[in-house]
Amino acid sequence: MKLCFATNNKNKIEEVQALLNDSFRISGLHDIGCSEELAETQDTLEGNSLQKANYVYKNYSINVFADDTGLEVEALDGEPGIKSARYAGDHRDNEANINLLLANLGDSNKRHAQFRTIITLIHNNLINQFEGVVKGQITIERKGGFGFGYDSVFVPDGYNITFAQMPLDQKNKISHRGLAIEKLVDYLNSLEVG
Ligand code: IMP
Repeated sequence: MKLCFATNNKNKIEEVQALLNDSFRISGLHDIGCSEELAETQDTLEGNSLQKANYVYKNYSINVFADDTGLEVEALDGEPGIKSARYAGDHRDNEANINLLLANLGDSNKRHAQFRTIITLIHNNLINQFEGVVKGQITIERKGGFGFGYDSVFVPDGYNITFAQMPLDQKNKISHRGLAIEKLVDYLNSLEVG
């Protein structure tokens, strides 16, 4: 079965392809001839991932899934949430985003946060959503050199190191995206067997 993952991030595509059985072939946006930036104008992660999947399904007539992720900080009423990539502005600057997050939290000791990923699959007109959540704490300062985004200021519950101090394969096993992908893959693999 051919499936499009509505992203141009090769690492994400390889991660999913490696987990699926041989009957699935994952294509990225580039592979299906889509070079547009997909709109994400909804006010929830659920809405945005559905919007992206729907766009590809309607315009490219291919079964598709799309993901959307946000960092939700309790003391900031769930911000940056859907604005995670552009928290400090449209230039999508990870360092500026982290600076703003740490400034907004100040020295508050309420530092609970979670990463949440929603994957929307549209397969033969059927819509399914899969959620992955990892809870943790925002640190006072950056630690670690791996990863991207907010990894250097997020310590997952049960650990005393940030995501940026973990090798990628360790992070993938416990991460929001890893958990959502696991649910998607279980569903897809069961479809083919069933
Ligand atoms: P996306 O929906 O995967 O593009 O994620 C939106 C934004 O959330 C990214 O630009 C990052 O700022 C942040 N983000 C998503 N996943 C992660 C992660 O695993 N670690 C750190 N930041 C992340």
